[in-house]
Amino acid sequence: MARLAPEWLREILRTLYQNRTVTRAEIIEATKLNPASVSHGLKALLQAGTILKVGELESNGGRRREVLNLNAEAAYFLAVDLEGTRMQFGLTNLVGDIRYRWSSDIDLSQSLPVESVLDGIQAVLKNLDAAQRSQLLAVGVSHPGFADSEGRVTAVNLNWSDFPLRAALERAFDLPVFMEDAHRTCILAERWLGAAKGSRNCMYVIVGNGVGVGVFADGRLLEGRDGIAGELGHVVLDSAATDPCRCGRTGCLEAVVSCPNIVRQYLEKIGASPERLAAYKVTEVFDRARQGDSSALAVVERVASRLGLAFSCLVNLFNPEIIVIGGDVVYGEDLILPRLRTELERRSLPRALAGVQLKVSSLGLDIGLKGAAALAFRQSLLNPVLLKKICSPMAAVRLHGGARKRKRGRRSVRGAR
Ligand SMILES: [Zn+2]
Repeated sequence: MARLAPEWLREILRTLYQNRTVTRAEIIEATKLNPASVSHGLKALLQAGTILKVGELESNGGRRREVLNLNAEAAYFLAVDLEGTRMQFGLTNLVGDIRYRWSSDIDLSQSLPVESVLDGIQAVLKNLDAAQRSQLLAVGVSHPGFADSEGRVTAVNLNWSDFPLRAALERAFDLPVFMEDAHRTCILAERWLGAAKGSRNCMYVIVGNGVGVGVFADGRLLEGRDGIAGELGHVVLDSAATDPCRCGRTGCLEAVVSCPNIVRQYLEKIGASPERLAAYKVTEVFDRARQGDSSALAVVERVASRLGLAFSCLVNLFNPEIIVIGGDVVYGEDLILPRLRTELERRSLPRALAGVQLKVSSLGLDIGLKGAAALAFRQSLLNPVLLKKICSPMAAVRLHGGARKRKRGRRSVRGAR
């Protein structure tokens, strides 16, 4: 293994993660590595048990080609999703399949106690057997708001301001912790496992309690100087709008199109008391619109039109191949998408819009956990200690007990691809 360049292993493992089942020739084509390097890497990974030979294909020349995939049980991650109204926790295997899960409600009216996050992780951990524990590599966290380089989270949803989440998790579980904003973990999941697989220019727009966009541009995840890139919700597209935003300003996109604001506008239109806001669900507004309720339809029109305008800015700025939309707003897909498309067509440069796919996320409610797992996998490849563990799963089992004492690299939150 010593003579293998880590970059070869990373490229091979990324290709296997994304494509699940591949031949050696497909890996060479995808990685652009030279065939000898790929053969060398595959041989080592097969011997270690990180990848498995699952069959053979007959090629035209009569030569048989091996079909390979990742050994899904070669390593495990703890995935945590703090976006939305329910916290989700999961144990995922190397390829992002969820093995155990736990979830609990977030009380949006008060500050989220860190103990409830720790308890959720413990609820998953107690299901692990000794072998799974020894191959548990890292924690991946998908969170709302944004985090600084020290892993301190600021999120209005959770009532957190510079909350030291990474330090708390590292202290409690003695594992590397990788964190990322929900809109970025979602585009990671879509690009590695979902509708945007393999795309170099794609984005995920989340429209739930908040609004954000995760962007892959020219094959790179956009993070910005301080990791704040993608805060689409606080872009003002109508300077005359007076909708109050939770950021303290008025007229932000989020103040119009986020799900609590869809409900707020509907309740205002029908003259209901604002106290009903907490109990009323966005799906009820969509149901009323489907029944022809003019107040609900007016809100839907405004939301879809504003989203279409926002999407046209994304199309013109980033020239994407695909835009995936997720979050609770997709419960109104039948109402929102056709109207959004009309506005998008009206506002975009025709050449930039031509061929752009607009899709609803197919990863469903698991997207946060899958994104957190994809983040943990991606960052583990960049961490030399964790890469070595992925590339020697059997050694990890033998070393069970000794591994916990080792100092681990913990700072590699941001990185390439
Ligand atoms: Zn705002």
